[in-house]
Amino acid sequence: MRRGLEMQYKDCGTDVLNLVEKVKLECYPVLAHTSMRCVFSLKPMSRGSKDVLAVVRKVTSLERQLGIGYDFILLINEQRWILLNSYQQEALIDHELAHIRCKVREDGSVEYRLVGHDVEEFTDVVKRRGLWDVDLKELVEKVLESKK
Ligand SMILES: [Zn+2]
Repeated sequence: MRRGLEMQYKDCGTDVLNLVEKVKLECYPVLAHTSMRCVFSLKPMSRGSKDVLAVVRKVTSLERQLGIGYDFILLINEQRWILLNSYQQEALIDHELAHIRCKVREDGSVEYRLVGHDVEEFTDVVKRRGLWDVDLKELVEKVLESKK
């Protein structure tokens, strides 16, 4: 066996698939007709020094042509997933689905694209500068509203 061919990924079970469908139905009805292959990464996932909990990506036209019959792939860090409670797991799925935006073209066809986060900031900058950014300020306002 060649090096690097050991199992790195495995399909998620029906518990995850059902959760994805539940969150789609409740929060993302525009994604109702999209298909998502949900896969656990058996190896740690990270970017820089940060653990990555999950990542969603769009299946490319090449991959489609090669027979991957899904619109998206949701890759979940299994080592982190199993440490989350059910509320956190659902929130993580919600987060990943939020990266997908749907646009209906003039001819009625639908286009999906991935978008970045509303807010990206460093804790140290917030400590020094507070809510200096409009998006950051809005995020904190929403957090405070949600606690009411
Ligand atoms: Zn994200």
